[in-house]
Amino acid sequence: MCDIYFNISPGEAEIPSAMLSDDKNWISYQLFIRVERPEKIVVGRLGKFTFPAGEYIYSGSARRGLCARVNRHLRSEKKLRWHIDYLLAAAAVTITKVRISTTNECQLVAESGGEIVVKGFGASDCCQGCGSHLRRQ
Ligand SMILES: [Zn+2]
Repeated sequence: MCDIYFNISPGEAEIPSAMLSDDKNWISYQLFIRVERPEKIVVGRLGKFTFPAGEYIYSGSARRGLCARVNRHLRSEKKLRWHIDYLLAAAAVTITKVRISTTNECQLVAESGGEIVVKGFGASDCCQGCGSHLRRQ
């Protein structure tokens, strides 16, 4: 198994795809997210939730176009589509670090642990019973 970590400074927009070696099967990522103060956020059709301040980890996958997917998460201008888009659009929410991995995303959720704040968040396609792919640490 293999991982690369990127520290993200505020306003920094991109992870360079050249940093991801071609010989590795990069399939998943984690976003390390800071919620500075409690935020009430409407998460698409899931509904409205209060996210307590704290550090969160979101685990996702993209078998193709992983780097583009992560860079999309890092951009602020976009149409809100996934649950995570709604969280990241909130003013007091920032990505502080990104992990790119060769490990299955559900395995990453299990390893990182943490509490579920919103049941089903980012887990629409999850078949391993994670409960939520967003966890508060
Ligand atoms: Zn899962």
